[in-house]
Amino acid sequence: MRNKSGNLIIFSGPSGVGKGTMLKSCLESLPNLRYSVSATTRPPREGEQHGREYYFMSREEFQNMAENGGMLEYAEYNGNYYGTPKAYCEELLEQGIDVVLEIEVQGALQVKKLCPDALMIFVMPPSIEVLENRLCGRNTESAELVCGRMAIAREELKAAYNYDYVIINDNLEQAVDELKAVIAASHCSVKSMKKFLDEVNK
Ligand code: ADP
Ligand code: 5GP
Repeated sequence: MRNKSGNLIIFSGPSGVGKGTMLKSCLESLPNLRYSVSATTRPPREGEQHGREYYFMSREEFQNMAENGGMLEYAEYNGNYYGTPKAYCEELLEQGIDVVLEIEVQGALQVKKLCPDALMIFVMPPSIEVLENRLCGRNTESAELVCGRMAIAREELKAAYNYDYVIINDNLEQAVDELKAVIAASHCSVKSMKKFLDEVNK
């Protein structure tokens, strides 16, 4: 017998650390885990599709959605807004499905306040140099935008103390295994099993 709602998972780390790469692998092997597609005002990168990587919106559309209570959280990052549409997450969690939010640290702290039981995972690079190489190597941002992202990254790394788990993405396979292990362990936490325990013990 299982009587539980899904786990809300917050997944953060500086731009270029490998969050997207790690999640892709995890989502392929964990059928009860879904990715929350965020809204953003940043322009799409080559190959990105509306509704898959992001819901791409004008600033006005984004602000309307936020003002009407449609966002679980939102934040400004390097000159653009990013936010989590609320309805999809709530629906999945209600159905017992785990939802992962790949969001930056300001938004993560907003969610933690609203949902103190959320599982908070932070991904660290093995070093700042490796991070910069990955970010430049990805070739998705201009040199100016890479500079902005690196400056934000130095600040974001200090926020890791607010999280429950830290994973170093050096060897990708090991980092993905650790991510899966942390998610599996969270399912056995007393907080996560509370509804089930209450049902058995009533
Ligand atoms: P993020 O989603 O955190 O911005 P990405 O997943 O886009 O980062 O990864 C940034 C770049 O680093 C990509 O080119 C990706 O292929 C590469 N990368 C990710 N993880 C590793 C790893 N463990 N070792 C080497 N390169 C990696
Ligand atoms: P990118 O432009 O590289 O896709 O994302 C830039 C940063 O915004 C990353 O740190 C990413 O995790 C974060 N981000 C993506 N979606 C959201 C969101 O919905 N809310 C918040 N607060 N940050 C987000």
